[in-house]
Amino acid sequence: MKCPTCGSVNFYARDPEDEYEEYRFALQGDEVVPESADADALAIINDTEAYCERCAWHGRLAQLKK
Ligand SMILES: [Zn+2]
Repeated sequence: MKCPTCGSVNFYARDPEDEYEEYRFALQGDEVVPESADADALAIINDTEAYCERCAWHGRLAQLKK
């Protein structure tokens, strides 16, 4: 998986309960690798929209798997 627009594998997600909290992560193949070891990070990343770090793309990770 990678960004469909720019090909980047670096993304972040925003905590729906705290808009200033961001969870950075990378995609390695189909795998989501959060930068932080926070146990909540993966759940939030999978549950909200992902934002590309390099361009304006954002959306559900499930869309990238197609
Ligand atoms: Zn991008």
